[in-house]
Amino acid sequence: MVALTTLPTTTAATATGSLKTTAVAKTSRLSVPVLGGTNQQRAAVERAIALYTRRKLMLPGLTVQIHSDEVKCDGHGGIFRYSGSDMHIDLCSDVPYVIVHELGHAWSHANMTDTDRRSYTRTRGLPTWNDWSFEWKERAAEDAAFVLQQNLMATTSVRATARWDDLISAYEALTRQHSPVRVS
Ligand SMILES: [Zn+2]
Repeated sequence: MVALTTLPTTTAATATGSLKTTAVAKTSRLSVPVLGGTNQQRAAVERAIALYTRRKLMLPGLTVQIHSDEVKCDGHGGIFRYSGSDMHIDLCSDVPYVIVHELGHAWSHANMTDTDRRSYTRTRGLPTWNDWSFEWKERAAEDAAFVLQQNLMATTSVRATARWDDLISAYEALTRQHSPVRVS
């Protein structure tokens, strides 16, 4: 799930003890603070991030906040929110693919131009990049996050099927790199 929204702010105590509200720090280097959750949950997020960095798919600076219920994710497993260059993922599920999918939204947001998005949408035969008046499966932004997650989490023993041919070619159109599961 991806949403244009107002990002949350962090509240920090100043030296004098008064409270000051500051925006989540922006950064151009890879920096993904993971807030909340257990050590195990934070380690799972780190593993998901490594799936991208291992393939040289550069993630933007963003924050991941782990929640113990789905309230902050609007009833979804996770949600990627952005406001300008500030990016944030709320994570409300321990299912491993959810964070990989949400990171896919962050990657697409940071790395694709409008021309790239139009081109990918056309290539996939979809009606829109991210117009919410269309269903989830018709939005190319969701397709792109799904394609990234499927390829990055797949094992190398993926069988040659029409479905995988499609997922692999979509990944390669998106990233301009060979899919990790391409065998030839
Ligand atoms: Zn999504």
